[in-house]
Amino acid sequence: MEYVILAVVIAVVAIGAIAGLVVSGRRRQQLPPKSQAPVITAPKTPQEPQVGEEAAPPTEEPRRTVEEVPLPEAPEAVEVEAPAEAEVAPAIEVPEPTAGRLVRLRSRLSRSQNSLGKGLLSLLSREHLDEDTWEEIEETLLTADVGVAPTQELVERLRTRVKVLGTRTPDELRGLLREELVELVGKDADRTVRSTKHEEGPAVVLVVGVNGVGKTTTTGKLARVLVADGRKVVLGAADTFRAAAADQLQTWGERVGARTVRGPEGGDPASIAFDAVKEGIAEGVDTVLIDTAGRLHTKTGLMDELGKVKRVVEKHGPVDEVLLVLDATTGQNGLIQARVFAEVVDITGIVLTKLDGTAKGGIVVAVQRELGVPVKLIGLGEGADDLAPFEPGAFVDALIGD
Ligand code: GDP
Repeated sequence: MEYVILAVVIAVVAIGAIAGLVVSGRRRQQLPPKSQAPVITAPKTPQEPQVGEEAAPPTEEPRRTVEEVPLPEAPEAVEVEAPAEAEVAPAIEVPEPTAGRLVRLRSRLSRSQNSLGKGLLSLLSREHLDEDTWEEIEETLLTADVGVAPTQELVERLRTRVKVLGTRTPDELRGLLREELVELVGKDADRTVRSTKHEEGPAVVLVVGVNGVGKTTTTGKLARVLVADGRKVVLGAADTFRAAAADQLQTWGERVGARTVRGPEGGDPASIAFDAVKEGIAEGVDTVLIDTAGRLHTKTGLMDELGKVKRVVEKHGPVDEVLLVLDATTGQNGLIQARVFAEVVDITGIVLTKLDGTAKGGIVVAVQRELGVPVKLIGLGEGADDLAPFEPGAFVDALIGD
């Protein structure tokens, strides 16, 4: 009997204890989390935050007790991501400074140097400067594409000065020829590429020319020239006629950290040019460089195309420069192109490319005369920094040697 009573007591106590545990467990589940240990918002460990990504608002996170929260891994995750990002970013090149580029590249003018500079010096050094010699001097200048009128002017001035000079030492002759050639090339012209930002927006430079002259390459190299001079640049790939032009330009831009605005192949060049300037304004850059399509099919076609690009860009503000790119190796053909372009748009500067591949450096003089605008840059090779600001003194020194 006693055993029965004892068993009943134990059973009652046990039931009571179990019931109490269940109730307290239920009550604990119903308690608001605030009364529990502090809740920590755990980072989303499976989807670690990416650098630059905004963290999700804390309220969206499930609340868990301290015991349930895994160790925070966020700082580690960020550290891991950062170098990975750095690895994929394209390396940005630092272009060579522009000052002194022509002096550095002077040897590239060796073909012009031999046929023009040295040729003239040796002719002028002859003991007797008779009519035949003067004719030879004239011939040398014409062969180097200096052009008829400038050649006659130069010969006239040289004849007068040599007569006044009397006997001539090699140094005197070199000095005299240098002075006259620098005068002929034009030492006072303003050759700066207008690329300084305005209050309202960036400077806009249109690059025009016939396909094949080196227009896209020059636009890319010019971006480097401007970046080297501390400018921030946006490129506009408005040459939608040549299939690879936009890719080519974009690659040039990426190398110096400049964004390229482009459109579909065969798209409307004017709308790309417009968008490029818009992007330049939004980014607050100094200069927008626009590579245009140079189809010389008919003058009217060219006029329509370039005229439209210019008009549309001018909705944002004035165009600061229209640079005409000419291939120095094409001689008279280049001059004909120059004439046609000048009738269509107001050219403000000339870029002469491929002067490294010709003996006809005199084209600098002829083309300036033809258009009445200065040569501002010259291309002296296919290297990324082989585009030099044109300096008459350094150019003439390269031709005649100093
Ligand atoms: P575009 O059709 O006028 O845009 O011509 P590209 O820019 O594609 O250039 C045509 C070719 O001329 C390319 O092979 C360039 O590397 C080359 N080129 C451009 N400028 C120079 C230069 O100053 N010297 C030399 N040697 N080649 C150049």
